[in-house]
Amino acid sequence: MDKQLLESLKKKLEDRKISVIEQLGSIGHQETGEVGAEINFNADFPDYGDSAEDNAVEVADYAKNLSVERELEKDLRDVEKSLKKIADGTYGTCSHCGEPIEIERLKIRPESGSCVSCKNAITRK
Ligand SMILES: [Zn+2]
Repeated sequence: MDKQLLESLKKKLEDRKISVIEQLGSIGHQETGEVGAEINFNADFPDYGDSAEDNAVEVADYAKNLSVERELEKDLRDVEKSLKKIADGTYGTCSHCGEPIEIERLKIRPESGSCVSCKNAITRK
């Protein structure tokens, strides 16, 4: 992969990481763990009031936040995995078949860890 493209994908991944962390910060708080540990967020339980309706909305929103949090954390892990691969020079290789991942695919979704045909094979299962 040419260096310039790799740099631009790396930049995209870093931007994506910042935006995902910001979104996570808006629905929960980051757990303070050891330095260098995996970033972990916990969705906050909202507090709208003490009436029965308030409590019902709180529970519904909390459930929604939890699923959003899970999605975002998955994105974050994919992004971090890709950044690590860039660092050790294995970025752009499919983790299933070892073939290079299509450049067009990486441009759209730089955190992709598998090529189109492996991705399709997994999704079809
Ligand atoms: Zn593959």
